[in-house]
Amino acid sequence: MEFDLIERIRARTTVQRADVRLGIGDDAAVLAVAGGHDLVVCTDTLVEGVHFPARTHPADLGWKALAVNLSDLAAMGATPAWATLALTLPVGDAAWVEAFAAGFDALAREHAVALVGGDTTRGPLSVTVTAHGIVPRGAALTRAGACVGDLVFVTGCLGDAAAGLACVLPGHPREAALFAAPAAQREALVARLQRPTPRVAQGMALRGLAHACIDVSDGLVADLAHVCAASGVGAEIDAARLPASSALIDLFDAPERRALQLGGGDDYELCFCVADADADAAIATLARLGGGVTAIGRIVAGGSVRVHDALGHTVAPVRSGWNHFS
Ligand code: ADP
Ligand code: MG
Repeated sequence: MEFDLIERIRARTTVQRADVRLGIGDDAAVLAVAGGHDLVVCTDTLVEGVHFPARTHPADLGWKALAVNLSDLAAMGATPAWATLALTLPVGDAAWVEAFAAGFDALAREHAVALVGGDTTRGPLSVTVTAHGIVPRGAALTRAGACVGDLVFVTGCLGDAAAGLACVLPGHPREAALFAAPAAQREALVARLQRPTPRVAQGMALRGLAHACIDVSDGLVADLAHVCAASGVGAEIDAARLPASSALIDLFDAPERRALQLGGGDDYELCFCVADADADAAIATLARLGGGVTAIGRIVAGGSVRVHDALGHTVAPVRSGWNHFS
């Protein structure tokens, strides 16, 4: 059964790369890393009931398991190349595995990511993807390096995925109001939760431009705080500048929207810091790639992330990110 499932995954994942000397089928993969480059590696696990609701469509899960990892590579400025997939399944459901692999492959094709190995075991549903990318030697973006005076930017919009979660989680406080919302708007928010777009091209374009970069997986304030800690700086964010989708604006009042934008996770946008002198270049470069880019604040001395409104009043701290063990 296990080998039948592995064969289905192998058959359903279609990306072939010349630098894969040996892929699925041996004890390990053999990958040719180009000279003068650094290998960038990340891994992320999605557990049913923790990272995604039970009965999430397997194709969405396959997409998202890869997307969250490509988002980490994007935050490092890396070009994705290879992935491995560790699947733990309660039952050996061939149709489920094929749908999962198809969702994974849809995103893998967009970024030419070859699936080169993995592991398949029985147990409570959980998916771990390890992604490998490459950067010119020394060019990886990191969380360290933000300087006082840098502008803080974010790609795309914030808060949609958290709003999408409110749409799909039974018993959520906003459930009734969201159920009454237009289907197109609900679907747009849920799509941002289930099929996030990793900002791969943006991350690569920020090499040599951004002083620091992180992807927004736990919530803007929590993730920007990681940049501040790694860089030894603080940040001032202007809540009025936070980018919001039209669905978020239509369905939530300003305080609710702000809480989603500042504290909601799962957006997988990039938050990055750029010197004033390079800000125009960064905006122009990212504008060409589409998806939007917005200046939301500045790096300051200190160590914390402060948020203020249009009148300069401090916005109360929101639930600050996701922490499994708190
Ligand atoms: P081993 O016992 O040597 O670890 P396995 O029997 O677990 O090998 O796996 C056989 C081959 O199938 C290996 O190349 C492994 O990387 C690959 N593989 C196993 N599970 C998956 C999966 N979920 N996705 C992709 N490749 C997989
Ligand atoms: Mg082996």
